[in-house]
Amino acid sequence: MTVSVYIPAPFRSLTGNRSYVESRGQTVGELLEELGAQFPGLREMLYNEADEIPAHINIYVNSQEIHSLQGKETPLKEGDEVAVIPAIAGGQVLTPEQVLRYSRHIIMSEVGPVGQRKLLGARVLIVGAGGLGSPAAVYLALAGVGTLGIVDFDEVELSNLQRQILHHTADVGRPKVESAQSTIALYNPDVRVVPHRQPLTAENALEIISQYDVVVNGADNFATRYLVNDACYLTGKPLVDGAIFLFEGQAMVFIAGQGCYRCLFPAPPPPGLVPNCAEAGVLGVLPGVIGSIQAIEAIKLILGIGESLVGRLLIFDALAMEFRQVKIRRDPRCPLCGDDPTIHELIDYEAFCGSPFASHDG
Ligand SMILES: [Zn+2]
Repeated sequence: MTVSVYIPAPFRSLTGNRSYVESRGQTVGELLEELGAQFPGLREMLYNEADEIPAHINIYVNSQEIHSLQGKETPLKEGDEVAVIPAIAGGQVLTPEQVLRYSRHIIMSEVGPVGQRKLLGARVLIVGAGGLGSPAAVYLALAGVGTLGIVDFDEVELSNLQRQILHHTADVGRPKVESAQSTIALYNPDVRVVPHRQPLTAENALEIISQYDVVVNGADNFATRYLVNDACYLTGKPLVDGAIFLFEGQAMVFIAGQGCYRCLFPAPPPPGLVPNCAEAGVLGVLPGVIGSIQAIEAIKLILGIGESLVGRLLIFDALAMEFRQVKIRRDPRCPLCGDDPTIHELIDYEAFCGSPFASHDG
């Protein structure tokens, strides 16, 4: 049986710097012996003194870890792909339980064990544990995004439960960050939730956002929307934005240098002109659609796969059941990301929008 074997970077000095080598064997055990014969020194890396594969090395056959198959006795067939994945500094080896939990990811070539470890190592900040933040947080947690920061200073209200799936009936009156933390712990103990029980403001936004890889915005007011936009641009963090109103939702991704929310809407509407969800209402399921799209975009950014929703505004009309897209271009006159910017630091957003950092209802 000739199989292709992926050699990780730390071992490539033993394989002439090749990341893929061909080898043979009827089983994984035979293959590892043959690799050891082909490449002196490699066997010592793959086995410990007890002649066992050490715990810091995972062996995958077609993206399935051999502990979930038949271990060293796992049979190989022509054309199989074997990958040797050791723990690397800051990385982590998937436990057998994680290999099972994330098996539907691990068997996908676009994710695989390496992608799953990227997800487990990723840090996503969710602004607002409301309508949009709820499905985004739940799906990111289920997917195994290892660290979820949640910014919210509200308490759960009965009227939230029509759509905010992070919170349950018994949570009414609890701080949303606490309720979110309990729910996520039940869903996936792999996920560490970092609660930020404070409003996001010009004073703390840069410090909080700079701790994360990707920001998912689910805040339902213009002051926070401009604040998060500016803070993500200034810190160079990708922003996955979403908005909902009545039966319509919007989603977009902003990456510094490729346009921002201010390129699209240079100024907020006058206060009171566009009502928020608390004033006008929102279909309960709608944030589930938009928040899930935000979670997908965040995962794509972490894995570096697919076509990001960057440079496009996706509009979902639930009544017509239609998705539409409009192009967003970087505006050279944008005061933040344009050629001659006038905004170099965070400003007074409540004054700019004529409205407060209202509840993160969503
Ligand atoms: Zn801009």
